[in-house]
Amino acid sequence: MSKPAYKRVLLKLSGEALMGDDPYGINRATIERTVADVAEVAKLGVELAIVIGGGNIFRGVAPGAQGMDRATADYMGMLATVMNALALADAMRHVGVTARVMSAIGIEQVVEPYVRPKALQYLEEGKVVVFAAGTGNPFFTTDTAAALRGSEVSAEIVLKATKVDGVYTADPKKDPNATLYHSISFDEAISKHLQVMDATAFALCRDQKLPIKVFSITKPGALMRVIMGEDEGTLVHV
Ligand code: UDP
Repeated sequence: MSKPAYKRVLLKLSGEALMGDDPYGINRATIERTVADVAEVAKLGVELAIVIGGGNIFRGVAPGAQGMDRATADYMGMLATVMNALALADAMRHVGVTARVMSAIGIEQVVEPYVRPKALQYLEEGKVVVFAAGTGNPFFTTDTAAALRGSEVSAEIVLKATKVDGVYTADPKKDPNATLYHSISFDEAISKHLQVMDATAFALCRDQKLPIKVFSITKPGALMRVIMGEDEGTLVHV
């Protein structure tokens, strides 16, 4: 078998990657499928850091949070990511992968705090590190946390796992002629007004020359093909 294309990656999983077709929450079969894909990659010896979202449990800007103070709602969103991180680490334990959850907000009785050297140590030891609570700040997203932590741990690439299989010329749900970009530069994505990640996350990756791969986590074997450097999803490059 050929060698993986990367030694260390940052995988951004949105809350949706745990939700499946349920309206909210964690779907057992879905989390098991996601974790099976992650385990396969971890067992290849690829160092894997994960930023998990929380949209399946709580979204700060969602209708349910209307009327709430935005910062308070965002802290609730960050706590939701801690729940997802715990579920993810536990599901990984079931398949023989050791994971460590590190939180950007202090919640020490539950998970350890994010300490960069410790995270680097875990990655070197071959443990999967799950970064919880986003950036630890309201008004940000877990996409931005992915760009930030990816930069901090010197990941070679940010893998943005979504429900669609990459970046299209137009919304494929609305335009039947929309085609998938296999690769696109940051500058082209900006000039064509393509939404790859939120603006803050995108700008940080661009500044740090950290490429982004957008791919579908629901497509069987897609994560492995991305890791092996095969043509899968969309690569956003410098
Ligand atoms: N959030 C935040 N700061 C962060 C990351 C997340 O305030 O650095 C909050 C925000 O309310 C967000 C929620 O947590 O709506 C869940 O994160 P996100 O929407 O990024 O999750 P995903 O869509 O990836 O599941």
